[in-house]
Amino acid sequence: MPFAFQPGIDPSATPGPEALLFAFSGDRLLVVADAPAGVEHLGELAATALFIGHLDGRPVFTVSVDAVPEGVAHAGLRELFGRLDPQLHGVAGRAYQLVEWYRSHAFCGRCGHPTHPVDSERARACEACGASYFPRINPAVIMRVQRRGRMLLARNRNFRGPFFSVLAGFVEPGEALEETVAREVEEEVGLEVTRVRYFGSQSWPFPSQLMIGFVATAGPGQIDLRDSEIEEARWFAPGDELPPLPGPFSISRRLIDDFLQARHQQKQR
Ligand SMILES: [Zn+2]
Repeated sequence: MPFAFQPGIDPSATPGPEALLFAFSGDRLLVVADAPAGVEHLGELAATALFIGHLDGRPVFTVSVDAVPEGVAHAGLRELFGRLDPQLHGVAGRAYQLVEWYRSHAFCGRCGHPTHPVDSERARACEACGASYFPRINPAVIMRVQRRGRMLLARNRNFRGPFFSVLAGFVEPGEALEETVAREVEEEVGLEVTRVRYFGSQSWPFPSQLMIGFVATAGPGQIDLRDSEIEEARWFAPGDELPPLPGPFSISRRLIDDFLQARHQQKQR
């Protein structure tokens, strides 16, 4: 699939009527009839929007607003999975992360002076001390742990709902991703893993994660819940009754479905 979105930089650009605009109130996207609210809905509020690139040749802007105009609704990006066109949802995730970065680096974290957008790259620079600030993403690993035809699913206390999912955790400075996978599995369920293989990745703008998916094989031993955030963890075989699973738009669900499909195909052979 070609990438229809082309990132671009032009701090002086302002949105015209043809622009595709992503306006946020906090972390909620302003929408009209399940489409992003446009320049015609935002009026003057659109004037300070940041240009971030082109989608199918259309200039794309993002802005953060304090007030929601009349006749405009707002919704969190999670709620908009399945409601907003998937391509637009992806660009909305980028827009949100960029507008948040732009807003939260208006002042230098080192010396406190105001920063200015750079013309040639996606950065804000401090003229007083020379520091530069780039958009930041937080890498997290997410992994399907499996052993002898079964996969491990766990329930985290912080999940919004009663579902079970694969394990996940943030990358520590200095770690290789495979090391994070091994450390997190050991810390959460007390198992050693080998054969850590890359699966795929997904941008997860809640607020700015990059989820990097893996499949890993657990060694022998019992599940030992070592992390107070994990309420329950169990092995599941494809024929078992499965607990509620994460939503269909997440890489966690893709990791689970991939396991169920592979087992199903093996049976049919
Ligand atoms: Zn500075």
